[in-house]
Amino acid sequence: MERVRVISPCTSANLGVGFDVFGLCLKEPYDVVDVKKIDEKEIIIEVDDKNIPTEPNKNVAGIVAKKMMDDFNIEEGIKITIKKGIKAGSGLGSSAASSAGTAFAINELFNLNLDKLKLVDYASYGELASSGAKHADNVAPAIFGDFTMITNYNPLEVLHIPIDFKMDILIAVPNISINTKEAREILPKSVNLKDLVNNVGKACGMVYALYNRDKELFGKYMMEDKIIEPVRGKLIPNYFKVKEEIKDKVYGIAISGSGPSIIVFPKEEFIKEVEDVLRDYYQDVIKTEVGKGVEVI
Ligand code: ADP
Repeated sequence: MERVRVISPCTSANLGVGFDVFGLCLKEPYDVVDVKKIDEKEIIIEVDDKNIPTEPNKNVAGIVAKKMMDDFNIEEGIKITIKKGIKAGSGLGSSAASSAGTAFAINELFNLNLDKLKLVDYASYGELASSGAKHADNVAPAIFGDFTMITNYNPLEVLHIPIDFKMDILIAVPNISINTKEAREILPKSVNLKDLVNNVGKACGMVYALYNRDKELFGKYMMEDKIIEPVRGKLIPNYFKVKEEIKDKVYGIAISGSGPSIIVFPKEEFIKEVEDVLRDYYQDVIKTEVGKGVEVI
């Protein structure tokens, strides 16, 4: 094989009470990552977004590719061409989409036969470079699809829950950037035991709700985060105002990753109304649904 092209989807981490654990794969938007063998023994990167670096040691795709090729003593050269589906720093796992797509494509191109967990592990080296931590809550849903939980690091453990029912999703993308590192620095260093018990209980309830295809319960618990949202919501213009305005027309609403994007699960009969409200505040609104993870095209 000389060339592999994949679609690698955006993802939404946290979902309220599932901070640093939950991740959801979205069908759209996505990156297209094209990896082909070349004669020169080097890694060349091309990206259609001029704000994203193309140096292989700065672009997450280059970092993931180099790590995998070093580990498997691959001495050939490759060219990675990335079509970005969503701008970086919007809280939709933009860097994770490129990292996951690259890990998946390299595995195919060089017949490495790695399983999904190992691909998540390699892809998270890209996250280390872009955000300073080897976190996997975006790369895991990008690789596995559906809903994932990171239950351990060192060794990495990922639990995957397939979602076989339709959930309509709206993503509002405010026109500001939030740096993941800074969004972490403002978080409390310790938490109140009562708030911890609340969040653990609600997170367990969300998993229960998924198994019972209960969107109402899933969304209700998503909105009851007492630890992260009160702090991070302040970084997003009009977040609490919008939440209040649409709360009866949605199953759930949460900050996507570290923001500024907002993930909304509208009730079927109010999709258009909720979309209109979001557009009034944020202009850029994406309609999507749950995705199935990276795939070869
Ligand atoms: P996001 O959650 O949208 O990925 P992050 O803040 O975690 O946002 O990562 C974005 C950072 O990663 C930016 O500094 C961006 O320049 C850098 N980056 C490097 N390579 C890529 C890539 N292929 N796609 C997106 N961002 C990249």
